[in-house]
Amino acid sequence: MLRMFVALWAVLLSQGVIAQSKQSVDLIVNGDYVLTMEPGAAVIPQGAVAVKGGAIVAVGSQQEIAGNFAAARTVSGTNKVLMPGMVNGHTHTSMVLFRGMADDLPLMTWLQNYIFPMEGRYVDAALVEAGTRLACYEMIKSGTTSFVDMYFYPDVISDVVVDCGMRAIVGAPMIDFPSPGFKGWDDSFAAGVDYVKRWNGKHPRITPALAPHAPYTVSLDHLRAAFGAARDLNVPVSIHVSEDQAGIKTAQERYGMTPIDLLEGVGMLGQRTVAAHVVWPTDSEIQKLAGSLAGPIHNPTSNMKTGAGISPVPQMLEAGVNVGLGTDGAASNNDLNLWQEMRLAALIHKGVSNDPTVVTAQQALDMATRMGANAVGLGDIVGTLEAGKRADLIQVSFDSPRFDPLYNVASHLVYVATGEDVVTSIIDGQIVMLDGEVSTIDIAKMRQDVEAIAQKIRQDLESR
Ligand SMILES: [Zn+2]
Repeated sequence: MLRMFVALWAVLLSQGVIAQSKQSVDLIVNGDYVLTMEPGAAVIPQGAVAVKGGAIVAVGSQQEIAGNFAAARTVSGTNKVLMPGMVNGHTHTSMVLFRGMADDLPLMTWLQNYIFPMEGRYVDAALVEAGTRLACYEMIKSGTTSFVDMYFYPDVISDVVVDCGMRAIVGAPMIDFPSPGFKGWDDSFAAGVDYVKRWNGKHPRITPALAPHAPYTVSLDHLRAAFGAARDLNVPVSIHVSEDQAGIKTAQERYGMTPIDLLEGVGMLGQRTVAAHVVWPTDSEIQKLAGSLAGPIHNPTSNMKTGAGISPVPQMLEAGVNVGLGTDGAASNNDLNLWQEMRLAALIHKGVSNDPTVVTAQQALDMATRMGANAVGLGDIVGTLEAGKRADLIQVSFDSPRFDPLYNVASHLVYVATGEDVVTSIIDGQIVMLDGEVSTIDIAKMRQDVEAIAQKIRQDLESR
């Protein structure tokens, strides 16, 4: 009886006999091809997402969404893919100012002879402000909506991220030796904890975090203190883990343990940990990562550029580890375009294993979106298009003849598209880019600020 009534109601509605009252929303975003990125979900042709109060209220066909919702504004989806914004799980935003300064060097030489000294000389609040803004611009343009940062002056970073309209986990850096603004561990640790206390719950798009640099630059006691403080404050830890063999050798010489076994002892696996790189995990460490709260972040460009190695991503995926993708800083990439990481992730593992079935296009997309969000602990709020999640969405234009003919959307996204094809970015329901124009950043001013700092650095380098 009830079923009959519902069927009759639907017929009357569709014929306009009964006037349907539509729910009002802020925004409807259409897409000729909608990828929700939920596990196993099919592409929705002629799909749409309704957004209200910064959240997704419904996902469906354009007909359903237009039938049920009245929007103040609608974004056209002709020839466009609509999908979740991408998650850059590991970067050092301000290092865009060191882009192209020192290339083609081993990781430890690059860090100790170039990056650490340059940071000591040049990093201040002004550099971080200009660098973070430039990095946010580059990330918005190429479809990243959330990122995990680890850099000095986290308050400045957080303010810029809020201004630019992005979402970030901002890790306050802590390290055992002198670094910009700090004498060593004690003051960097205290400042990091203070930063977290200031920003915890302050802004919905900022998650403060503690970022002890790595097991080879932070003592075991200090690692224990950092993980303990993060537990007490209920915030994530962001840390470099098993990046290259030199760092692993140091940890092994000091403690007789490999890094993940070592970090397990300070709580890494049982609390939210963004584990950058994880290039050299042992088989037993991979098993430990599966089902843990730690998310490894795969940074293929940086790992190849520094000669760190190739992470066993296929083995980690096979074991059920939630692997995310990252660019690392622009000094070792040299851009912040996650599209390149996605394509490399889908290619290099095939090459080194002689097995073209590993890391499929779909898995690469998963790592850039849903799995990346899970890996950094933001999976409850972003990473897929589903009602209830925050509205972080991008549109990718398939307008160019480069996309002809179209048989498989995931294949084109991974093997054809580049960051340049991203045309729309909506973060927390706010349109931050439309038709390729970023509305939250004064580009001329941004470039002036960057050039002023670059000029000072050039002059200083020439005078040495
Ligand atoms: Zn890094």
